[in-house]
Amino acid sequence: MASPGNGRADGLVIALDGPSGAGKSTVTKLLAGRLGYLQIDTGAMYRAVACLLQQAGIDPDDTEAVERFCRDVDIRLEQADGVLRVFANGQDVTDLIRTPEMSQLTSRIATLGPVREAMLQSQRRMGARGGVVLEGRDIGTVVFPDADVKFFLSASAEERGRRRYLELVAKGEQVTLEDTVRAVISRDRQDSQRDLAPLRMAGDAIAVDSSGRSIQEVLDIMLTVCRKTITQRELSQ
Ligand code: C5P
Repeated sequence: MASPGNGRADGLVIALDGPSGAGKSTVTKLLAGRLGYLQIDTGAMYRAVACLLQQAGIDPDDTEAVERFCRDVDIRLEQADGVLRVFANGQDVTDLIRTPEMSQLTSRIATLGPVREAMLQSQRRMGARGGVVLEGRDIGTVVFPDADVKFFLSASAEERGRRRYLELVAKGEQVTLEDTVRAVISRDRQDSQRDLAPLRMAGDAIAVDSSGRSIQEVLDIMLTVCRKTITQRELSQ
């Protein structure tokens, strides 16, 4: 069988960008599962870097220390029993990176050039052969501007804040709905107003609004597009 993808041996590169709480992680996991692709959560990679910087006591404003740290940073994602585990310089940080505090710190350190450069190279290596769904903020604009399929998943800030709130409460975090919505809005602002690789929709991305849609509906929309692209690639080879 001819291999689908832009000369990529293992399949398509699918970019799934959007603001926090739009449902990217859930949809990415399901989409990757249905296509037999690898799930690459680039937000988890930035979170893992934030966690290491905090543990090492490195001030994000100390450019030299951040640069030095980024030369050797090693972030790995491993899928086991349906769970994506995140390793930062060998340490399993899967649970440590999901607190509201770490979300805010991540958004801050994700503005730093050396951090973005290290993650960019690592993400390009991971996706080079295709057969991947990468979720993030800048996949379709910067990491893989030639991705085979690009989606931009959004929802209103209130809806995203509400979903995040329910997730955090389910994990036993002590948070209020009001604070969670405020944190989502603040992260949106920081992510879309930064100079490097800001959150924005690529010109050739397909916009999908998840407000008022079930996960299954969102997944069906995306699967239809991906399968059509795979078929077109196979026919043209
Ligand atoms: O997707 P998630 O909410 O886990 O991402 C955490 C933070 O990582 C985002 O708020 C953003 O600042 C940063 N990020 C990024 N570029 C990506 C993915 C995430 O800057 N591709």
